[in-house]
Amino acid sequence: MSKVDPNPGIIIVSEADCQELISREDSFTAVESVFGAMARGDAYNFPVIREAIGHADALYGFKSGFDKAGMSLGVKSGGYWPGNAEKGLINHQSSILLFDPDTGRLQALVGGNYLTAVRTAASSAVSIAHLAREDSKVLGMIGAGHQATFQLRAALEQRSFEKVIAWNLHPEGLDNLKNIANEHGLPFEVVEREQLGAEADVIITITSAFEPLLMNDWIKPGTHLACMGTDTKGKQEVDAALFARATAFTDELAQSITIGEGQHAIASGAIKEDHITPIGDVINGMHAGRTSADEVTLFDGTGVGLQDLAVASVAAKLVSAKSDAQRVFL
Ligand code: NAD
Repeated sequence: MSKVDPNPGIIIVSEADCQELISREDSFTAVESVFGAMARGDAYNFPVIREAIGHADALYGFKSGFDKAGMSLGVKSGGYWPGNAEKGLINHQSSILLFDPDTGRLQALVGGNYLTAVRTAASSAVSIAHLAREDSKVLGMIGAGHQATFQLRAALEQRSFEKVIAWNLHPEGLDNLKNIANEHGLPFEVVEREQLGAEADVIITITSAFEPLLMNDWIKPGTHLACMGTDTKGKQEVDAALFARATAFTDELAQSITIGEGQHAIASGAIKEDHITPIGDVINGMHAGRTSADEVTLFDGTGVGLQDLAVASVAAKLVSAKSDAQRVFL
């Protein structure tokens, strides 16, 4: 057995490094590949811990896992502090630790805020790439917080959209999305949710809601929904009947039925677990995905630790190859 460097140091990957080095394309490729590995059984997520800490209204937890195909092992720790925006900070705060799968040594400390946003946007973009109708023209956005701008930019790259329509609890928050649509030369309209359901070919929901914002009857045939906000027990963005009507996909079944949108459809008795397919099966060619132009498809993107580890590993490799990489030694 060959000896290894006894103290190679820990690579520090700052938020600025991640922003400079990880493109939307890198993130899409890493996330699509890890979803495929999960569905093949080559990568698995460990149970999520997410707790209300009883301070600052915060949710804090850990997401971790191991990808044998990509050889990433680690944990993302952080959560959601709803009062941060008033302090000039983003509400999501997280950091990622990567470990050497061969020895267990800490390899890298990676800023997780930008990566969370790009990997979450990549997740819905992967679902649009594999499940939305090719001729989708109208993109509907529900939510306009920090994640929503990343979501919009990634989604616009997946189809030849001709218009963006949007709804937010506070309509004044929608200017960020309007600016992005306009940058792409697309018209932008603020609409009521019912109209959004009637017009949109693809809908992304990315809010912190705890009740359904979109009802089944409002959604026209052929729509693809990427439900991205529900990542905790009790949260909900769409009607359980809509979930039951749709051909439903998810990143991770165990999360969909406990902390994702799937929790409500299961609890209502409208569906059983076998209603929901891992999107990795579509990526791996084991499931056909959408099979008709009238089908409603829904992706329950709950957010898995392996997405974070996948993009963090790419960032750590790129930084460690730089001559001025920062290292600390324990
Ligand atoms: P943010 O605080 O910046 O924005 C929150 C958004 O939710 C805003 O548009 C706000 O108007 C809306 N909202 C809040 N309460 C609402 C309610 N009761 N009804 C309707 N809309 C409401 O948060 P963010 O960083 O943009 O994250 C949005 C959501 O996405 C959060 O719930 C977060 O936990 C979730 N998230 C999921 C993943 C994933 O992988 N699935 C990753 C990151 C964030």
